[in-house]
Amino acid sequence: MLQQSVLQLTGIGEKMQETLAAMGIHTIYDMLFYFPFRYDYHEVKPLTELVHEEKATIEGEVLGEPLLTFYGKKKSRLTINLKVGNAAVKAVMFNRAFAKKHFSSGDTVTVIGKWDQHRLQITVSQYYKGKAKKQTPIQPVYYVKGNLKLPTFRKWMEQAVNDYRDDIPEILPESYLTTYKLPSRGAALYTMHFPENRVQLKHAKRRFVYEEFLLFQLKMQLLRKMNREATRGNQVQYDKELVQQFMEQLPFQLTGAQQKALQEVMEDMASPYRMNRLLQGDVGSGKTVVAAIALYAVITSGKQGSLMVPTEILAEQHYQSLQEMFSDKVKVVLLTGSIKGKKRKEVLELIANKEAHIVVGTHALIQQEVAFCDLGLAIVDEQHRFGVNQRRALREKGLYPDVLFMTATPIPRTLAITAFGDMDVSVIDEMPSGRKQVETYWIKEHMLDRVLTFIEKEVANGHQAYVISPLIEESDKLDIQNAVDVYHQLQTYYGEKLQVGLMHGRLSPGEKEEVMKQFAQNEVQVLVSTTVVEVGVNVPNATVMLIYDAERFGLSQLHQLRGRVGRGANQSYCILLADPKGDVGKERMRIMTETANGFELSEQDLQLRGPGDFFGKKQSGVPEFQVADMVHDYRALETARKDAVAIIQSNTLQTNKQYVELYHLLKKDPVLQGEVLD
Ligand code: ADP
Ligand code: MG
Repeated sequence: MLQQSVLQLTGIGEKMQETLAAMGIHTIYDMLFYFPFRYDYHEVKPLTELVHEEKATIEGEVLGEPLLTFYGKKKSRLTINLKVGNAAVKAVMFNRAFAKKHFSSGDTVTVIGKWDQHRLQITVSQYYKGKAKKQTPIQPVYYVKGNLKLPTFRKWMEQAVNDYRDDIPEILPESYLTTYKLPSRGAALYTMHFPENRVQLKHAKRRFVYEEFLLFQLKMQLLRKMNREATRGNQVQYDKELVQQFMEQLPFQLTGAQQKALQEVMEDMASPYRMNRLLQGDVGSGKTVVAAIALYAVITSGKQGSLMVPTEILAEQHYQSLQEMFSDKVKVVLLTGSIKGKKRKEVLELIANKEAHIVVGTHALIQQEVAFCDLGLAIVDEQHRFGVNQRRALREKGLYPDVLFMTATPIPRTLAITAFGDMDVSVIDEMPSGRKQVETYWIKEHMLDRVLTFIEKEVANGHQAYVISPLIEESDKLDIQNAVDVYHQLQTYYGEKLQVGLMHGRLSPGEKEEVMKQFAQNEVQVLVSTTVVEVGVNVPNATVMLIYDAERFGLSQLHQLRGRVGRGANQSYCILLADPKGDVGKERMRIMTETANGFELSEQDLQLRGPGDFFGKKQSGVPEFQVADMVHDYRALETARKDAVAIIQSNTLQTNKQYVELYHLLKKDPVLQGEVLD
């Protein structure tokens, strides 16, 4: 019944069917689950309870004559002073000069509009004489397209809900409804469209939030199980003794957190299941070493390993440091987009005939032409910079490689269990000892001179500095122009006193390598760069990170950049040059100066920017929920996750009667179809 077309509803003809289809509504079911994106409340609240920038209803007494002013061509502004309790509120109306005659001193009026907390002002969209009407219902507001009018849509919705709500099956087990005090699916659905009061609406939303999260988490847990069961038999039999020897010749001892993470990784490798693990650790926490040990382990078993990173600079750097770490017996090769022609052919051959033990590269690694002979372990660094599909493509390389994703952008727990809910997670939450915390300052343009002098002093003491040029979103070309400009400015400013270098994405690989080498060897003391140095670059002698237009970067990105300094024993400094206009920007600068912990920072970033923006514009794997909000509803998310784990572990999703509707719904999911649920 629910799968019938919306044509079943009175008043919907073929024309409107098209409009509805454009809104994603095809069947009665789609219609029922098309929820309002907002609700308007026409109730009067004390001024102190009104929310800035939200719709409000205010009842007051007109004070004096309204003031009408004209500006521009035919534009007007009408200002009415209202006495509300003991406060004076300004009600303003634009281009409705005629309304002036409706407001006389002493009248009681009700105005509805957008509230401005700071100015105690309301921008009126509706008004009427007299006190506010009591018990006006909560108005659901839907997105509608084309010629479709909201009242018409509401009428159809009413019809659909009344005629079909009894057909909507409950999908949650009865016991959950009782435990969490959730309304039934049919009742909650009715409330979503026709709420009687706030409390009732709150519970209806709570129910759908939980439902969405539970379904999503069940899917994640099923995928996890599927991944395990599909890949039995890929034990890596590494040589414990050789690995031990390798670890002993490292110049330092692993921190406790590194040891724990390494152990988890090694256990996964030794297990018959394919590893699908995320390794999180703040910048400088020492993930790369853990990766190197795991790579070493896999080659002692006779298989190959790969390390995929987001930029060529980083690939080259890892290539070099792995070569240094391993003895000559280990063959490491580099594969990036700029290795071409004969050289490329050679490298591809080495990979295919297994002469290469370890391959380091950019996403060139996952292209069709690259054929591993026997890939046992694939490591992906800074994985959030790779799209979901690329992750999958890599997993499909080789037979059944274990896959380890590493990230230095600490992912807030809520995001980790949604975007990466199908993965196991290890965390390195401890820094190698002896590190000093980077001191962070926020300055304005007029202090730049002092900072440049400060850099000069640091250089005189034998240290080095990064200067990150302003970022212009979506424009590579302008970014580079900015870097070049800053480079010239600093060259002029410092003259002979120190060497300034320039780094950006358009340099050829050879040029990049040359600049990085000069910087690493302290032939260049100040390196002007775009954000290409953001990840992984390691020059421990650098102690200053100056970031132009810091307000244009996200918190996590600033933290990454900051992580380029403080890598040695010397006190380091991060200086944010920023003049943010809005409150959010100011708040971000403040957080940066006060928070050194990457995890804490990422939680705050998530709060400020929301999940969609967290990973940047690229495809991120963060799911979209209709009712739920990962940040706001994280408690429900945790609960749903716990419940989903319990259901899947009980192994009774298919057999237990209580789960039958959940099971049916999951079966329809294209990702799961045919894989685990038959
Ligand atoms: P990440 O990849 O997590 O940003 P790295 O692996 O690049 O961190 O490590 C940062 C620096 O710390 C490197 O110079 C590395 O050699 C050093 N390092 C790593 N682990 C330790 C340790 N346990 N003790 C001392 N130094 C370490
Ligand atoms: Mg690293």
